[in-house]
Amino acid sequence: MTGTTPLFGPNRIRPGYEDTEWSVWITGMDDILNQPDLTTALMVAAEHNAMALSIHDGSPLTPNTWAIVLHHGYAWQRPQPAAEQSGPYTVHMVVEIRCPLCSYVLDEEGEGVQCYPTEEGARQSAIGQGWTELVDGRVICMDDLDEEHINARAESEAIKNPPKREEIPGQEALPV
Ligand SMILES: [Zn+2]
Repeated sequence: MTGTTPLFGPNRIRPGYEDTEWSVWITGMDDILNQPDLTTALMVAAEHNAMALSIHDGSPLTPNTWAIVLHHGYAWQRPQPAAEQSGPYTVHMVVEIRCPLCSYVLDEEGEGVQCYPTEEGARQSAIGQGWTELVDGRVICMDDLDEEHINARAESEAIKNPPKREEIPGQEALPV
């Protein structure tokens, strides 16, 4: 394995097996590790590469091994953005949750922006994580300091649960 071995492009090599959908190729050792799916393969490769980096002394003379995800034996590449692709591709619609009042994008777990396959899934997830669904259908974030958020919640609540009017006209409420 030399630095000029093409993994991508027209004359690319196939280090793995055509029959194996997903695998991880460990260069240097030339091991092929079969994987059940892309996600697992990426995790295995990432772990290997992180470990390989952490134990490497930085010298160009020290051999290193890299884990490369293979798809049917060829090096797998993350799909390029649709505009840059020349071949057929699939467009997936995903929904991210953004507060209509402050544009905050839902990330309550701190795991980066979450995307959902459907709008309803996104809505339910946001509500489940503490966001408020207003009577007009908007779902706003948990900001409880901003006046606009507070008023929107209060107005919506007032419409949903109108205050009961049991006072007798002319009679003032007694101080409690
Ligand atoms: Zn907000």
